[in-house]
Amino acid sequence: MPSILDPDLRRALANRLRYYNELGIYDFYRRQPSIDEPTADTPKTAESSELASSLPSQPELREEMAARKPAIVAAVAEENIFDVLTPKPEQAVSDPKAALKLIREDLGDCTRCKLHKQGRKQIVFGVGNPRAELMFVGEGPGADEDVQGEPFVGRAGQLLNNMIKAMGLRREQVYIANVVKCRPPGNRTPERDECDTCSPFLNRQIAVIKPKVVVALGAVAAKNLLAFNAPMAELRGRFYDFTPAGVRSSDPSWQGARLVVTYHPAFLLRDPRQKGEAWKDLQMVMRYLGLGQPKTAAE
Ligand code: SF4
Repeated sequence: MPSILDPDLRRALANRLRYYNELGIYDFYRRQPSIDEPTADTPKTAESSELASSLPSQPELREEMAARKPAIVAAVAEENIFDVLTPKPEQAVSDPKAALKLIREDLGDCTRCKLHKQGRKQIVFGVGNPRAELMFVGEGPGADEDVQGEPFVGRAGQLLNNMIKAMGLRREQVYIANVVKCRPPGNRTPERDECDTCSPFLNRQIAVIKPKVVVALGAVAAKNLLAFNAPMAELRGRFYDFTPAGVRSSDPSWQGARLVVTYHPAFLLRDPRQKGEAWKDLQMVMRYLGLGQPKTAAE
């Protein structure tokens, strides 16, 4: 017998589907719930509601404390025909450095989302090697990044530098960017509309750089690059085939990329016990890229 959805849940699902459709995703797969997972037919218990309400407000912590769930099939963003058909200025040049410059010019003194009027000092576009094999993507600039105009330059940036070094690379060899390019006030998590508005520029950066591996740092980056929502425990520990939104999957110039999800360095600063897990993710990337195995993890 079909279950009757709560109107609020139905509305939330409709909004979510519309969001995915706007990203160009139309095919969905139903994941079988695990036996201890509440479904529409098995309402949440008082204990689970109490647990949910007691979870901390920081999204990454909240996600980490969610119960581990069975592995899910990756649903990777498919091409959005409107994005694909719209010519981009950078497509006229073959040099990735020049192409990134054109994207930056296209971004201009951006006022496309409300973050432009919420205290940003400057747009933080991205930094690094325009031909990088490895790209790191975070969620958005913090206070230090806002001042210096470069992603990952504060304490979290220092840890990211150590992670890169532990992989046997230098910061200049990789490319680093964020989902949103303006600092959210008070370092809050960027909101859906802000991510939706800004992430096409990130996808254009990825399409130009053509990295072999994209490392999504934290849940916000992961959920914006991949097309599904899941706790970090489910997102981590595997490779995803990745094509940035706006790139035709049959585009001969796109050789494909792998995407890996790991913890955001800011989260690792709050919970250093997870550094070992992040190191496992990075070692997976190192094996794929054929990098040597250094002796110790990043401190
Ligand atoms: S976050 Fe992105 S879309 Fe929003 S104003 Fe800044 S550059 Fe523009």
